[in-house]
Amino acid sequence: MRFQKILLSGALAALALLAGSSARAASGDTPTSAEQYRLRLYHLHTGQHIDVVYRVGDHYLPDGVAQLDQFLRDHRTGDEKDYDVKEFDLLHDLMARLGHPNGEIDIVCGYRTPWSNNWLREHGHGVALHSQHMEAKAIDIRIPGVPTAQVRDAALAMQRGGVGYYASSDFVHVDVGRVRRW
Ligand SMILES: [Zn+2]
Repeated sequence: MRFQKILLSGALAALALLAGSSARAASGDTPTSAEQYRLRLYHLHTGQHIDVVYRVGDHYLPDGVAQLDQFLRDHRTGDEKDYDVKEFDLLHDLMARLGHPNGEIDIVCGYRTPWSNNWLREHGHGVALHSQHMEAKAIDIRIPGVPTAQVRDAALAMQRGGVGYYASSDFVHVDVGRVRRW
């Protein structure tokens, strides 16, 4: 077991060094801080699952980030947009705060093209004209086994952006725009 641990940490350090050459944000080169940032998601509209490490230490892994961007595409049009990686960190830290660091998150909605946003507005879904979903800074989620009100309270306590509570539809909107709530 111990030997495997040493092997694993060695592999992670190598990964972090490799990632450093092409990462989006490669600040503070500290190979010692090789914490793995993993996300497990289930998309309610596409039926897809994803289990991906998108960041090691301070380095965002381009492959992992690209997989998440593809996964969170507008499910109506198929269009993708590069997500603000702070949104991924928000989901990761939210799960840790809720005591489910490796739990799976149900995705109700990710990126929205202006077309999709208008479609939802016209069909009376009460979405904002300038939704953070169109900026790829927002995701609507539900966490199996965790009451939605508890997810809302944890997200509010983090103060990382907007938090919307949709009790009747049983989901929470979390974004990395301005800190606000509704
Ligand atoms: Zn939303």
